[in-house]
Amino acid sequence: MQEKHKQQPVDAVKLDRLAQIAVKTGLGLQKGQNIVVTAPVEALPLLRRIACHAYRAGANLFTPLLADEELTLLRLREAPETSFDHAAGWLYQGMAAAYAQGAARLAIVGENPMLLANEDAGKVARLNKATSLAYKPALEKISNFDINWNIIAYPGLAWARLVFPNLAENEAVYRLAEAIFAASRADREDPLAAWAEHNAALRRRSDWLDTENFAALHFKGKGTDLQIGLAEGHKWSGGASQAKNGIICNPNIPTEEVFTTPHAYKVEGIVQSTKPLAHHGSLIENICVRFKGGQIIEAKAGKGEAVFNRILESDAGARRLGEVALVPHSSPISASGLLFYNTLFDENAACHIALGQCYSKCLKGGAHLSKEEIAARGGNSSLVHVDWMIGGGDTDIDGIKQDGSLVPVFRKGEWVSA
Ligand code: ZN
Ligand code: ZN
Repeated sequence: MQEKHKQQPVDAVKLDRLAQIAVKTGLGLQKGQNIVVTAPVEALPLLRRIACHAYRAGANLFTPLLADEELTLLRLREAPETSFDHAAGWLYQGMAAAYAQGAARLAIVGENPMLLANEDAGKVARLNKATSLAYKPALEKISNFDINWNIIAYPGLAWARLVFPNLAENEAVYRLAEAIFAASRADREDPLAAWAEHNAALRRRSDWLDTENFAALHFKGKGTDLQIGLAEGHKWSGGASQAKNGIICNPNIPTEEVFTTPHAYKVEGIVQSTKPLAHHGSLIENICVRFKGGQIIEAKAGKGEAVFNRILESDAGARRLGEVALVPHSSPISASGLLFYNTLFDENAACHIALGQCYSKCLKGGAHLSKEEIAARGGNSSLVHVDWMIGGGDTDIDGIKQDGSLVPVFRKGEWVSA
């Protein structure tokens, strides 16, 4: 195998399909629409195919913004001490202006998840804070779902070496590329039809859950006995959805989850993580927490406990839930058996919960609710949103109806109804 992939570790046909998926299924790009793309320099082969499909779909302006990991490290190691509280505000203001004028947003991820693991934590924190503040107006257009947007992945070398530490470089890139293609359905002859079918299946699930209108979900599994109350007027989401500009898009490629907003004050019991959580260059394993009144009152981790505690201490909302998501154990990403060290992939391997910020789109009429109204329904608020996996092959979930009766939702990690 090693020899075969020496020249071309990334399959050109599947790469072109991935580009097509990004433009058509991911963004639902409209004729005449502008598009802003961020990407690591390594992802140029995918970026070029995306530009080609975007122009064929009638894109007006295609603006790429490239980042380089070596340049990021150079800044941290060589820039003057005063540099780290600054960000290119003019650039982020420009992005926000582009979105306000109707541009679509595409992000290609593929960077080294451990890039900053050994850098000066203080500098990294200052740099992240300055960037977050400058980026906020642009990010809000995305998180409020004002525009159609999409995230898709490209197999960067450092990322591939982390996922496949025992393989030669080209072989690792080849394997990660194939894993990305399979998870993103770019390995199908007709990937757009495959996505239409997948989106319809996710829609059936979320429609059924909306009809049931459960008051709570009860998770049971190894080390887990957890009741998650759902927010009042919660709405399930998954797969394709409509942005406020009217365009239907798939924000995440891949995606296997249906998810909603839990009630920040109605979570009780014990839950244990089933997969490692890769967080800002650290690995947190075997998390075990106890919830009372919606809040984590006891937290342990087999590995990375200090990092986990730092997440919990971010702010008042970091100890409460902002998301609960259902993913069958048979999902293709779970079946791959890989740990991607990237939430875009890892959260689609198992049922998960997220500490921190909730999604207002997972509340009925959420687009028009004020912060106070969201909180009154039980929606959590925080600067963080950290997903971690709690599902596996032994997960049973019951839905608890508003009248207290039980409906089986998952048995042994799989959906009960077809
Ligand atoms: Zn999720
Ligand atoms: Zn999440």
